[in-house]
Formats: sequence, structure tokens, C-alpha cells
Amino acid sequence: MKIVFAASECTPLAKTGGLADVVGALPRELAKLGHEVTVYLPFYARIRRHVEGEPKYAVQSITIPFRYYNRFVGVVDGGERDGVQYYFIDCPELFDRRELYGPAGGEYRDNAERFGLFCRAVIEASKLLGVPDVFHVHDWQAALIPVYLRTTYASDPALHSAATVLTIHNAAYQGKFPPNTIEDLLFPWDLFTMDKVEHFDHFNFLKGGLVFSDLLTTVSRKYAEEIQTAEFGEQLDGVLRNRARDLRGILNGVDYAHWNPAIDGHLAAHYTPEHLDGKRVCRADLLHAFGLEKVADTMPVMGIVSRLAGQKGFDIVAGIAEEIADRDVAVVVLGTGDPYHENLFRGWAFRHPDSVAVQIRYDETLAHKIEAGADMFLMPSRYEPCGLNQIYSLKYGTVPIVRATGGLDDTIEEWDAGKGTGTGFKFAGYNPSDLLAEIDRALEAFRDKEGWTRLMRNGMARDYGWSGPAREYARTYEEAAQRRA
Ligand code: ADP
Repeated sequence: MKIVFAASECTPLAKTGGLADVVGALPRELAKLGHEVTVYLPFYARIRRHVEGEPKYAVQSITIPFRYYNRFVGVVDGGERDGVQYYFIDCPELFDRRELYGPAGGEYRDNAERFGLFCRAVIEASKLLGVPDVFHVHDWQAALIPVYLRTTYASDPALHSAATVLTIHNAAYQGKFPPNTIEDLLFPWDLFTMDKVEHFDHFNFLKGGLVFSDLLTTVSRKYAEEIQTAEFGEQLDGVLRNRARDLRGILNGVDYAHWNPAIDGHLAAHYTPEHLDGKRVCRADLLHAFGLEKVADTMPVMGIVSRLAGQKGFDIVAGIAEEIADRDVAVVVLGTGDPYHENLFRGWAFRHPDSVAVQIRYDETLAHKIEAGADMFLMPSRYEPCGLNQIYSLKYGTVPIVRATGGLDDTIEEWDAGKGTGTGFKFAGYNPSDLLAEIDRALEAFRDKEGWTRLMRNGMARDYGWSGPAREYARTYEEAAQRRA
């Protein structure tokens, strides 16, 4: 099949979270299965830096009309890599900026125009470069593609049979804009109703995608159920319940070419389930990187790599920060995010310089060093659509401690010391005391060296590669295309 991916992030070109990892890996896996895949991205400043020499244009100029003016975009040929064709939508006045969405976690004021233009430009570019069987669009930034296809472009015969699949990577990010965005993007006002794009008196891009796509997916089975409830649905649960029969949960894979301790180029040493010695070297290297060289050899190290955002559950960590610091455990944290959470961690490290260390930045190498060098990995998320770090942790023999939500629940099985089964530690209640009890269970288990090694190996043996998920996506595309036909 011919598939067009439209997304706002893609590893290694432009990344703020797990979405980028999916858009980086899934197309390659689909290409291996024989599909013809094209990926469209905005031509951000940081993608421009990846292009050697002058950009080569596949399309010189496409006119995108707005209410009071037109904009003109080029389509940069990003070339083919691993059987996947990349195109970048070039509109310097909207995309040639430092950040993807806005400064320091904020939003650029013209994001509706930026991503409205992106969606329309992908459709126009496809008409020139190849209309696919399926547009696979990701999150709110690409969610207007199905809306445009079934409204503005509804009578265009070239696009009529193209099906649409929308993947929700995180239902909390929806792209909500004032009502007059309808006119700015040249949509008819009759689209601004509760059963279409209107949502609490806003134009909601994600809702539009949910209503107009042929099929919907999200990134774990558990999250697919959760977002149909008021607790997790971010006020879109009603829309999602209406479309429950068209919603699939497909767990993300991970890219073991990048995340495998046997070959990982970021590490001080390599190791495998059979030969774990290298992990000790990685531990020492990690402690050195965090200035915690004095931590005793017997003390477990607990790692965190995360966006520091409300979703990730650090408020319940804050509730027991002193209790954790009193335990026999060292903590290393890598993350960036909102000032409240950044300061929370800074304060924690300041109070306990011998056992808690924090680095507030985005650092790929250090993320790998934590996965390899830590003994445990903490993800107490309030909600987690899929989560990648806990899956990386399994592969690195770094035992995850997670809250039973979304993909964390789907991927981590509670350790049973009696039977020797399970891959990690999982608690249900979103409160500090349940978290502390689970951390204590992990620390207790750590004292039994033989059991712990078994637990590590159980996780290392799990396979969360992309080949299974890619086949599920391919089936979803087939189904979407059949429905359209
Ligand atoms: P989310 O998409 O909600 O941020 P995921 O667990 O799905 O969460 O994906 C997070 C990805 O971003 C992982 O690949 C993780 O290693 C990476 N990451 C997050 N914060 C940092 C950071 N400060 N430095 C390096 N990598 C990070």
C-alpha cells in the first residue's frame, strides 16, 4: 500500500517526545513489509540544519489561501532513507524558528495557522507527488488532514478514495483555538458544531480528526480504554465513546537498533543477559556523570528520564521525597519541563547532595547512560499513553517501577518472587503512600541478588520491537482503505 505519514516530529530530525520515536521507526518497518511510505514534516530550523547544502525542492511553490492573504510553500525533497521518502513543508515565516511549538513549553500564537497550513500543504503536495491509499496522521498538529479531505476537498476526485487513520499519542494535547479560526482557515461555519470541530466554544483540531478519520488508533490497549472515560478522556471521552468501534490500541514498538545494551554506542561498556558484567561499568560511569562517585557499591541506583510535566506523576514523588532520600538508594534524574517541576527536583538534589542528583537538560547520551547504569527506573505517571522509557529499561535490565496506567500497565508485569515471574513493580493508587510501598517492595527485592538477576533477565528477554506493531498498523490501513472503497 501507499501510505503518507504526516506528523510534527520525527527522530532524529525533530523531537520533543515519544511521538518522534514512533514516526522515526514505524515507516521504516512498514517499508520492510513492502509498503511505500512517505513522511511529511514541517521544515523547522532544526531540520534545515540536517540538510547538507542548499535544499532541493520537489515542488517549488504551492499556494495556501487564508482569509486575508495567501501563503506560498515549497516542498523540500528530504531524500530516501531506509526505503522511506521524506518531504519537508517549507514556509520559513511559520517554521524557521527555534522551537517546534513555542518557547519553553509555551505555544506560538500562530499555531493554528502553522499546523493548518501544514495539513493543507501535505494534501496539496500529495496531489503532485502521489496520493496515498491511506493518510496516517499523528496528533492534533496533523489532525486537520481528515477534516480538509472530507470538507474543503470532498469533491476532489483525486482524493476521494484516500482513507485516513489518526493516531492519538496523547489526548491531553488537542490544539484548541478561538472560534474564528474557522474563517481564518477558510472552513464553512457549519463545521463549528458539537458533532464536528466545536468543543466548549473552541475549534478543537484533535476533535475534528477524531470525527472525520476513517479509523482511530492510540498507543496502547489500556489507554484506548482509559480515554473513553471521564478521568482520562480530557473531555473528549464522549467523542471517543461514540467511535469506540473504530478505535484500536496498538502498543508502540521500540527501536532496538538504538536501544540495546549489547551495541549501544553511548555506553562505557556493553552487556547482554548472559554477560551482565558491563552493567557495573555503566553504573560507575553513570554515577561519575552525576557526581555521585561516593555512592556505596551495594546501594541501588534509581533513574528517571522524563519530560517534567504534570502527567508524569512527580507530585506524588514530591510527597515522599524525604522518605526516599532516607532509604538506601541513590537517585539520578534527567529531564526538562515546567519551572515548578524543575525546581522541585533541584531542591531535592540540593537537600541531599550525596544521594540525589539532577540534570535539567535534554541529553540523548545521558538518557542512554541512565537506562544502562541504573538498577531501577521510576515512572509513576498519572497517565501514560504508552511510555517508551519503561520498555527501554526492560531491555537494559533496569527494573521499572511504574503506576498501572496506559502502556505502563500493558508492558510491565508485577514481580512474583515465589514463582520467579514478572518484569517490574506496579502500583495502582495515584498517591504517595502506594508509591512508597512499591519502592520499598523493589528495594526489598533488590537485596536478593539471585532473584533480582532473574527479574532483570525476565525483562531483558521481552521483545517490544516494531515488527508486530507494524503488522497491526498494516491491517488497520487495509481496513480503513476497504471502508473508504
Ligand atoms: P513522552 O512522549 O510523554 O515524553 P515517552 O516515554 O513516550 O514519553 O517518550 C519519551 C522519550 O523522550 C524517550 O525516548 C526519552 O528517552 C526521551 N526523553 C525525555 N526527556 C529527555 C531528556 N531530558 N533527555 C533525553 N531524552 C529524553
